Amino acid sequence: MQVYFLGTGTSQGIPVIGSDHPVCLSNDSKDKRLRVSVWVSWEGYSIVIDCGPDFRQQMLVSGCARLDALLITHEHADHTAGLDDIRPFFFQQQKNIPIYAHERVLFNLEKRFDYIFATEDKYPGAPSVDAFEVKNGTDFMIGTTWIRPIEVGHGSLQVFGYRIQDFVYLTDVKTIAPAEIAKLAGVKVLVINALRLEPHHSHFSLQDALDFIHLVQPERAYITHISHLLGFHEEVQKNLPPNVYLAYDNLKINL
Ligand SMILES: [Zn+2]
Repeated sequence: MQVYFLGTGTSQGIPVIGSDHPVCLSNDSKDKRLRVSVWVSWEGYSIVIDCGPDFRQQMLVSGCARLDALLITHEHADHTAGLDDIRPFFFQQQKNIPIYAHERVLFNLEKRFDYIFATEDKYPGAPSVDAFEVKNGTDFMIGTTWIRPIEVGHGSLQVFGYRIQDFVYLTDVKTIAPAEIAKLAGVKVLVINALRLEPHHSHFSLQDALDFIHLVQPERAYITHISHLLGFHEEVQKNLPPNVYLAYDNLKINL
């Protein structure tokens, strides 16, 4: 399995428009972060988790040439605003793109992208999707691989993370119930969010994420959904435990 970090930044992306914060002005490419998303490929399958406003650019830069499914964590714009840009995949693959999300999220996307979900009088240039409802406690299959949803809390909003074999992708986590943590047993690579050093009402801080990693004990952990307020990539990375890494855009890992 290969995991390609398409974007590792918080909702506004880094640099933030108009910001003169030193991290936003950094010349280090690892301090430039598009909105969070990962491309996961294994045994001939190619899926992307979340589809934010940078999706088109991310597909071009990564060279992702096939999309077998989109998995959505939640409806916030930094995770969904790029949905229109699945069009090239729809045209090239000549079939509806499967999209997996919570019922609430599918309902939200149907409102915001009604022309994509429309079944009648459809504009010929619009893409089409097959919507699959994800329910907590019910694994679903892509190809021959089971995907396990993991429920977390993002403030008061329910969010899904996903386990694919021994890879777990969790983002926008502030709270997670013990029963959900139990689903992470034996994980080799854990991706988890950390926004900044200071606490936040709907995101893990760096310390929250490190405490969580210590609890879960993955072989390796990668931190994502990062704000410029976390600091320079190079400096933050130096102080992390040996099996914990700050993810950065275009990082590829194998497991
Ligand atoms: Zn987010």
